[in-house]
Amino acid sequence: MTDKLLAINSGSSSLKFKLFEMPEEKVILSGLYERLGFQNATFVLTYKSLKTKETLAITSHEEAVDHLLNVLLRLKVVESLEEITGVGHRVAHGGELFKCSIRVGEKELHAIEELSELAPLHNPVNAIGIKLFAKALPNAIQAAVFDTSFHQTMPAENYLYPIPHEFYEKYKIRKYGFHGTSHEYVANEAAGILGKKITDLKIITCHLGNGASICCIDRGKSINTSMGFTPTAGLMMGTRSGDIDPTVLTYLQRKLNLTTDETERVINLRSGILGVSGVSNDFRDVERCANAGEEQSILAIEMFVKRICSFILTYVFELGKLDALVFTAGIGENSAFIREKVCGSLKGLGLALDPKKNESNEPMIQSEHSTSAIMVVPTDEELVIARDTFSLLEKVRKKKSSHGLTIRDQQRINSNYLTVQVSKIVYN
Ligand code: ADP
Repeated sequence: MTDKLLAINSGSSSLKFKLFEMPEEKVILSGLYERLGFQNATFVLTYKSLKTKETLAITSHEEAVDHLLNVLLRLKVVESLEEITGVGHRVAHGGELFKCSIRVGEKELHAIEELSELAPLHNPVNAIGIKLFAKALPNAIQAAVFDTSFHQTMPAENYLYPIPHEFYEKYKIRKYGFHGTSHEYVANEAAGILGKKITDLKIITCHLGNGASICCIDRGKSINTSMGFTPTAGLMMGTRSGDIDPTVLTYLQRKLNLTTDETERVINLRSGILGVSGVSNDFRDVERCANAGEEQSILAIEMFVKRICSFILTYVFELGKLDALVFTAGIGENSAFIREKVCGSLKGLGLALDPKKNESNEPMIQSEHSTSAIMVVPTDEELVIARDTFSLLEKVRKKKSSHGLTIRDQQRINSNYLTVQVSKIVYN
C-alpha cells in the first residue's frame, strides 16, 4: 500500500510543502508560499519538472493551506483529500521534552506551544501549521519533527553554559542545537556512501546555508554542535552574528539606548556576512564582490572560514579522530571556493582536497593523501520529515490492527485525535 504524505515547513510569512509517495520516497510535487501576511502572496509550484510562479490574493497561512489542498485536487494528484494519510511538520524547538519525532495530539500540541518561549519566531507558527492541517485533513495523522531532538544526546558538559546552575534548573537555559534533521540525514547518507555503519564512524557535518551550524557526531550520536540556546549562536551566518562576547550586547544597549528587541534585531538580522561585508547576506553576491577585490567582502569570507575551522578543530579534538568531514546546504553544497578555503586552512589535520573533484558533482572530494574523507552531501530535511511521519503512521496502524479495528474505525479515531480550534494569526 502506498501513502501520500505531506512534509510541511511553516515560517512566519511562508509555507513550504512537499508531497511524497511513501514508502517509495517519490516526490509528487513541491513548492512554497511566501509573503503570507502581506497584501499578496507568491506561490511557487514544481510539478512534473515544471516550475510555475504566481502572485495570489491570499494573506494568511489558513488561506494558503486551503489553496494548496485545492491545487492537489485540481491537479488530480489526489482524487480525495482522504488519500493524504499523514502530515509531517518541521518544528523548531522540542526543548528537553521531545527527543525524537512524535505524533501530535492535543497534549503534544500544547507542549509545542509552551516551548514558544524558547523559539518565539518559530514554534507558534509551526503550531499554527499543525492546527490548520489537523482541521483540514481530519483523517491524517499529524507528526512533529524537531530541529533540536537529534542533539539531545549531547553530554551535560557540552550543553550546559557556565552560568549559575539554577538558571538551567529553573529556566532550562542550555545549548539545544538546531538543524538536527539535516545533520542526522547527511551523516547517515555519508556512512552509506562510505559503505560503513554510522555506528563505526566519527563525522563532522557542516550545514552552511543562510543559517549555519556544525555538528560533532560520534558513532551516529550528536555530542556537540555550534548553535546554542537559540539559532543565533555559533558560526557567523548570513545575517546572524554567531558567538560574540555577550557583553557587547549590554554595552550596545546602554550606549545606543536600544530596547531588547532592537538589540536582538542587530545580532539576528544586521550582522554576520551582511553586517561585515555591507553587501548582502547572499553568499554568491559576497563571493562576487570578494573576487572583484572588495575589501569588506574579502574580510567577511575570511571571518566566516576562520569560525568554521575553529569549530572543526574543536570537534576533531572531541572525537579523537575524524573519518569524514561533510559539507551540506546552500553554501556547503555549491561553493567549491569555501570548501577549498576551509580544507586548505586545515591541512595540519591531514585533510587534503582533490581540486578537480571539488569542482565536480562527486560526493567524495578528498585526494588520495587525505587522512579523512571529505564529502558533499545534499541535505533533504523534507525527506526526513516524510520518513519519520511514515514510520509513525506504520506504528499507529500496527497498534490499531492489533486491537482488531477496521480502517473505518481507525479513521474515526484519527479524526477525534486532534480536534483543535484554529486561533487567529496575528501578523506584525
Ligand atoms: P537556508 O535554507 O538557510 O535559507 P540555503 O541552504 O538555501 O539556506 O543556503 C542559502 C545560501 O547558499 C545563500 O547564502 C546562497 O548565496 C548560498 N548559495 C547558493 N548557491 C550558491 C553557490 N553556487 N555558490 C555560493 N553560495 C551559494
